[in-house]
Amino acid sequence: MQVCEHQIPRLLAIDDSELIHRLLKSRLRGERLEIHAAMTAEEGLEMARALLPEVILLDIDLPDQNGVDVLRELKTDSTTHDIPVIFVSGSTDADARVRGLDMGAHDFVAKPFDMAELKARIRSAVRICLLIKMLAQRAQIDGLTGLWNRACFDQRLKQEFAEATRYGRDLSLILCDLDHFKTLNDDHGHPFGDQVLEDFAEILSSGRGGDVPCRYGGEEFVVILPDTPADEAMIAANRYREAIRNMRWEEHPDVQSTASFGVADLKCLSEVSTEHLVDAADKALYQAKQQGRDRVCLAGQSDQNDLKLSA
Ligand code: GH3
Ligand code: MG
Ligand code: MG
Repeated sequence: MQVCEHQIPRLLAIDDSELIHRLLKSRLRGERLEIHAAMTAEEGLEMARALLPEVILLDIDLPDQNGVDVLRELKTDSTTHDIPVIFVSGSTDADARVRGLDMGAHDFVAKPFDMAELKARIRSAVRICLLIKMLAQRAQIDGLTGLWNRACFDQRLKQEFAEATRYGRDLSLILCDLDHFKTLNDDHGHPFGDQVLEDFAEILSSGRGGDVPCRYGGEEFVVILPDTPADEAMIAANRYREAIRNMRWEEHPDVQSTASFGVADLKCLSEVSTEHLVDAADKALYQAKQQGRDRVCLAGQSDQNDLKLSA
């Protein structure tokens, strides 16, 4: 879920009255809003799932379905669950309002509209929506390096794996770990260690646009490479290996930091699953460490001394 502050917030109005749609279009013209109209519950639910608007204005009294049922459907669908819904009704029935709010509606507005009030409530709902999106995005980002975190990695790997197996595409994984990092921390201090982690993260972010670099934990990182066979992932990993070993820091010019890499793709697996892919990359990384560090190993190859490239 990307938060795009420059994108104009979208409002979906679900109401069976043409008049209301016309009124909203003309009266909300000055607001920074893109307005979409649905005349029935069915159309509204369909548009809500397709558009994922920042706010929904929902009439309680719809011809084909009760607004409360529409709200229930919106709130039980994980894709629309977080969209703030403002309930609208011409009736003064307090029961319906209470039920709506209890079911997770963000707010309630009575018809006929007081336009100043409606605008303020819409603005408030849009703010909440952007905040929810920002928090969801932050929960997936590693605080130190700005890379995607482990939870996000697990989720993205599942998605990319499903795509790759469905369409018969390549998928590679690079698992990497900084070498003797404990010594670097011990010798030069934790803040400098943090700096090295940040710089390594930047190196891992320099790959192709579709690649997904993540912090796996501590000084271990992982990159998901969609549409990429193992030989291309090996080239990328070797580029990262060269970049970190060639990096120098003004405050400690004598320090050289290196990393070890394990590469695996779907084709080198005997059993095709996300767990086996991670496991294969992990074994290759272990092998790289065993063979002396500062190298890249490919999963499923036992002797890889010749794979240490020095381009
Ligand atoms: P190896 O080459 O076998 O990977 O050795 P290593 O020293 O890198 O591995 P080890 O697992 O012994 O130590 C990892 C170190 O990474 C210890 C831990 O303090 C450090 N580390 C983990 N997370 C962070 C962090 O966020 N910042 C800093 N500065 N250090 C961290
Ligand atoms: Mg290490
Ligand atoms: Mg480690």
